[in-house]
Amino acid sequence: MITIKEPAKKSMYENVMEQFNKTADIINLNPDIRKILSITNNEIIIHFPVKMDNGKVEVFTGYRVQHNNALGPYKGGLRFHPTMDVDDAKALAMWMTWKTSLAGLPYGGAKGGIQIDPRNYSLSELERITRRFTYALGENIGPELDIPAPDVNTNEQTMAWIADTYMSTKSPSERSNNKHVVTGKPVGSGGLEGRDRATGFGVYLTLKLFFENKKESLSGKKFIVQGFGNVGYWVSYFLEQEGALLLAVQDAHATIINDEGISVHDLYEHSKPRKGSIQGFSSAKEMDPKDFFGLDCDFIIPAALGNQITGANAYDIKAKVIAEGANGPTDNEGERILLENGVTIIPDILCNSGGVIGSYFEWLQNRNGELWPLDEVMAKIEKKLTESYKKVQNTVNTSHVDWRTAAYILAISRIETAYVQRGIFP
Ligand code: GLU
Repeated sequence: MITIKEPAKKSMYENVMEQFNKTADIINLNPDIRKILSITNNEIIIHFPVKMDNGKVEVFTGYRVQHNNALGPYKGGLRFHPTMDVDDAKALAMWMTWKTSLAGLPYGGAKGGIQIDPRNYSLSELERITRRFTYALGENIGPELDIPAPDVNTNEQTMAWIADTYMSTKSPSERSNNKHVVTGKPVGSGGLEGRDRATGFGVYLTLKLFFENKKESLSGKKFIVQGFGNVGYWVSYFLEQEGALLLAVQDAHATIINDEGISVHDLYEHSKPRKGSIQGFSSAKEMDPKDFFGLDCDFIIPAALGNQITGANAYDIKAKVIAEGANGPTDNEGERILLENGVTIIPDILCNSGGVIGSYFEWLQNRNGELWPLDEVMAKIEKKLTESYKKVQNTVNTSHVDWRTAAYILAISRIETAYVQRGIFP
């Protein structure tokens, strides 16, 4: 018997560096700018103590990596996850630089978080952990310097605590004009109507545009979603409205399938009291998690963590389209196999950019002291995302490259132009 050894998985950071270098070669990137973009500007690692409900102190590790700010303040989410480390933060920060550049926003890229499993802590412990981390970050973040937002396992409540803690450190006259230090806040605290659904809406919109271009409709198409958090839920919601059928869902606890389709509303109501878990949903049956990506469907939406579609499972995939709701869900080996098999990957930096586009509008709204209604917000997000989608599609057609490479070409070229125009100080 022949034993095939699974190749060692590359880290997300190795993947993003390979993607960057591939594009830098294609566009013949100025070698000085290549050096600058190959490395992160700042990597902040903080160990901070917090008193737990039982009176004992625990020390946590938090990160904020600021990759590049050539186009504007650093921008990117904070994730609370047990596997979070500086390497992941570096990869995710770099992806944010490309994402904001591609979207045409006046931002750079950053990412951070805390190495923690939030399910193991009470709400008041999470509040103290978040506030203490914000305090420790101090002036490393700021509304014109570095603007965090929600990411995996953080939400509008987390952002409200951060905004409040940051503003509390300012003099009374400065407090209220600092609320745009974070985006993704609750609407009652300066948040944007529609920011909750912005990422999922964006994933849905890119799929809609993709199929429209092929003169196909979303109605009747079968899809599967990995992750039923904010992104997974909202993209499924919008797709269901268009008549697409949610065949199967996978999260960290269960993989469920129903050939007749899973009701997005019912699954959401089921998961809410279970800290977001889909486990035990009675209108679907459980299936083997390892058969998930190989299911017969039209498109797959990975909307959980990085490195999910790899050399180990890409050969099983029958769907012809992958829409990357998560950041870095497909590793480079997985991508190579999929491209060989004629699968289109709508890349993360385009596909899930509705979230940071929504963040930009929240930031503008706060800066200008305005409040915009939901329909206006959604129309603005749709317009901005459609513009970048069209640019990527044109580049795919004119440069004969895959979608990720096209998106990278546009994103990196914009940053190169800014550096060439301004030069390097001194
Ligand atoms: N965490 C989201 C992302 O990865 C949103 C970032 C933001 O809004 O700043 O794009």
